[in-house]
Parts: sequence; C-alpha cells; structure tokens
Amino acid sequence: MHELSLIANLFEILEKNAEENKAQKITYVKMQVGLLSGAVPELLKTAFDIYKKDTIAAEAEIEIIKVPLKVECGDCGQITTHDDYILFCGSCGSSNLKTLAGTDMILEKMELEIDSPS
Ligand SMILES: [Zn+2]
Repeated sequence: MHELSLIANLFEILEKNAEENKAQKITYVKMQVGLLSGAVPELLKTAFDIYKKDTIAAEAEIEIIKVPLKVECGDCGQITTHDDYILFCGSCGSSNLKTLAGTDMILEKMELEIDSPS
C-alpha cells in the first residue's frame, strides 16, 4: 500500500515536531490531500490508524481535507477547479495551464499535548 510509506514520511515530520516542542502526545492532525496527489484519502486514514499504534500519536485523530485540482490559465488568467485533469482552459481553450493546487499532500495543522513543567 503506497499510502503506508506516505504516512511513514508524515510521522517523521510529526515526531520531529513533537520532539522540538517537548510534547507528550500528538492529539490531532489535519492534512490536505489533493484529489490528484495519487493518494487515496480513505486509505491514508486507515494507514494512519495502523501506523500510529505505539507512537506518540497513538491517540491522535486525523482529518483529511480533499483538495480539488486548481488551475490557472496562463493566457486569460481564469482560475478553475476540477475533479480530474484538464488539458485546455474552459474559457479560452488555451493549453497554457498552471497547476495551483490539488496534486500534493500538505500537513495543514497538528495539535500537541505539552505538559508544562511543574
Ligand atoms: Zn484561458
């Protein structure tokens, strides 16, 4: 499962972050996953729940926001969103399209539980 290695990478970031903040627990993780990132959000969630056992994030919840493809036309400047790849601008027909979002995974937010020193 491709998603397991993605989650393994995510955990490296999460654990590093938790360590830097001297956190005891990771309680919440929010990800943005592009519809065209190649990762299946449902599988990511499953992979997260499998992977988190015996880690600092064992009790963490993950929320995954699906991000549609967002493209900007280089000729007419129109920005549109789509559920699948498009080759031509729907407005002027140009193929000069720039991808703005929807093809990657972004860690948007994580919440940590940090015990204040007593
Ligand atoms: Zn256009």
